[in-house]
Amino acid sequence: MPLTDKFGRPITDLRISVTDRCNYKCVYCRTGNEGALYGDLPFADYLRMARVLVELGIQKVRITGGEPLLRKGVIDFVRQLAKLRTTGGEELDIALTTNGHLLAEMAQPLKDAGLRRVTVSMDAVDPDRFARITRVPEGYDNVLAGIRESRRVGLWPVKVNCVLMRGFNEDQIIPFGMFAREEGVVVRFIEFMPLEEDRVWSPNTVVTLDEILQRMGEYRPLVEIPHARSETARRYRFDDGVGEIGIIAPVSRPFCGQCSRIRITSDGKIRTCLFSIWDHDLHGQMRRGASDEELAEFIGGVIQKKEARHHIGEPDFVPASRTMVHIGG
Ligand code: SAM
Repeated sequence: MPLTDKFGRPITDLRISVTDRCNYKCVYCRTGNEGALYGDLPFADYLRMARVLVELGIQKVRITGGEPLLRKGVIDFVRQLAKLRTTGGEELDIALTTNGHLLAEMAQPLKDAGLRRVTVSMDAVDPDRFARITRVPEGYDNVLAGIRESRRVGLWPVKVNCVLMRGFNEDQIIPFGMFAREEGVVVRFIEFMPLEEDRVWSPNTVVTLDEILQRMGEYRPLVEIPHARSETARRYRFDDGVGEIGIIAPVSRPFCGQCSRIRITSDGKIRTCLFSIWDHDLHGQMRRGASDEELAEFIGGVIQKKEARHHIGEPDFVPASRTMVHIGG
């Protein structure tokens, strides 16, 4: 039995940020002036945390950041993680979220080390727009090469995550539908959340699930695919069976009641919700010499503090104590 929080939600999904540095400065995420704000830890420390958590019932581990491929040693970290077994004796489901800039040359070694799946973030399918969003010249070709190489080596399915912001890139909805069909990837649109450094979010910056479905439907009819209860994305395929898209709608269709996640930040803090206003110092426990049993006890207590839900768009909303890049998305 996995650990369960006080609302009865089983906690099976762990995200580990291995750095809060990033080589992109996406306009909806970072100011472009701030660099890393928090330190990172030796991989052996993340591995110990992961091992203790897997013994408590974690089944999926996603490596993220910042940009995780900037961290030297990340391939070996995947290799070490892949040796862990779930409480049921199965292999862990290991995935990675990346901007894809360095992925082309790392996809094969990552796959060989035991990575199963990759999610690549991409907010436009046009090179000029892509450069304006990321504020990095000529990244588009690298990312496309990374996506294609990931498919080639069997990091399957390759998911491409696109955050839509009104007035900025919502005209990319149909081009992304075409991209999903042509490239054989699952494109997932994510509603923009108030987690950016610049605090530009307002309810009308969010391009909602309903709008995305309507716009995509003008291109081709979509058919909903039944999804597992714990899945955050609503899934659709095009009527001719070619191409899949997903929509992750934390703002217009919150899924907090099914949340199975906890996160570890690059500096070793546990966060029980993206929108937490505090975090819990797991690495501090390790520094004080806690045994594995004591760490497990600490984690068990923290999980009982997992928030019922986020309060996005409500009058009592309090911004999270860290922004997305410093949490690990
Ligand atoms: N550097 C990696 C990448 O680009 O995927 C991993 C970290 S990045 C912070 C993780 C994901 O969070 C990206 O898909 C990014 O688009 C998304 N993201 C960042 N800020 C967001 C926001 N305010 N709302 C929704 N998604 C956001």
